[in-house]
Amino acid sequence: MRPMDLTNAGVFSGANLENARDHNRRVAIETLRVHGPLSRADVARITGLSVQTTSNIAEELIRASLLLESPVSTGLRGKPPKLLTINPDGAYSIGLQLDHNWLIGVLLDLTGVRRGEIMVQVDSPAPPTGLAALEEAARKLVADANVRFEQICGVSVVMPGPFEVDPIASNGPTVLPGWADVAVADRLSERLNLPVSLENDATAAAMGEHYFGVARQHRNIVVIFVGTGLGGGVLINGQPYRGAFGNAGEIGHMTVYPDGRRCYCGNQGCAETYLSVHAAYEHLGYARTPPTYDELLHRFHTGERQFDLWMDEAATVLRLLVINLENLFDPETVIVNGFMPHAILAELERRALPLPSSVSSRRRREVPRLILGAAGQEVAALGAAVLPLFYSFGHLTPVSAAMPVKT
Ligand SMILES: [Zn+2]
Repeated sequence: MRPMDLTNAGVFSGANLENARDHNRRVAIETLRVHGPLSRADVARITGLSVQTTSNIAEELIRASLLLESPVSTGLRGKPPKLLTINPDGAYSIGLQLDHNWLIGVLLDLTGVRRGEIMVQVDSPAPPTGLAALEEAARKLVADANVRFEQICGVSVVMPGPFEVDPIASNGPTVLPGWADVAVADRLSERLNLPVSLENDATAAAMGEHYFGVARQHRNIVVIFVGTGLGGGVLINGQPYRGAFGNAGEIGHMTVYPDGRRCYCGNQGCAETYLSVHAAYEHLGYARTPPTYDELLHRFHTGERQFDLWMDEAATVLRLLVINLENLFDPETVIVNGFMPHAILAELERRALPLPSSVSSRRRREVPRLILGAAGQEVAALGAAVLPLFYSFGHLTPVSAAMPVKT
């Protein structure tokens, strides 16, 4: 099976009848996802589609088991209207996140409810080991949730980016070694016989915050993802902005000090040499980033001076990034999240304030300019799992709220 085409062009291109039908299908499903059960007439009213078109789409989706319909009792005489609702078991998707230390996987149903999860410790796996681990995790998620492989609409793998960019993608301590020339999506797709896409962790983390975290009400956000390295994820009108080659938001290599610290990419003063888990450990004198964050937390809680100095330096870079990203994207808010322990992120956020002025420093704001993410350590895996559903069934709709999430 071929990997999914996730290019922005694929989503927006053309206006032929088939594309229009796909688009309308997505709009109908997303409307039900946001509003809950609705009659055909209500779907038509909300979406602006004609009643006839709505009915045709509904029949098609019911036949495909993606929608269910049930009569409701109105207490009135006559035939009650039938309500359309998303069939949770109509399709499932898998998100897998592979980083230096952890492989995290989640399985979602069509309504976005988590139906399985897995967490496996790894040690910067090389491609043969890593691909085998990804396959095993996907198979275990499917088996444990008691679903069939044919019901999985896609798998999305997230890894630290950028992809296919020399020398950034193949060098240095923050990329997974040996993966630069591996066609991850193709190789895993062959093993699983499912559509597979590859996404960078920060973009997936932005989707995770939008669907499960602090950005459910926001459709224009920038996420600063503090992992082993540093990444950025951008959502524009609720859609991930990926750039021409899937590397948009690679803020780890934005220059913050022209004469600053040397980065493995060949430049000087890149943001991730100051703000990242790797930078923190390097500052403390570690030659290699350890697999746990215990040492960082210990130094944080004991108020060690060396760590305190690092936090000041990292918070300064965070502040610079926030105002530059605000001026570039004019987002509703900027979110900081990632693998860095929550307590340390919270302190970095505190030290980054007050923020200098930017296009976002409006007097009447409803949300703070910088907020702490809430979707937890599995934020990127969760966001990844949303992507196959998102691209199969769509989010291309003027409806303004995010997907409701049952817990
Ligand atoms: Zn760099």
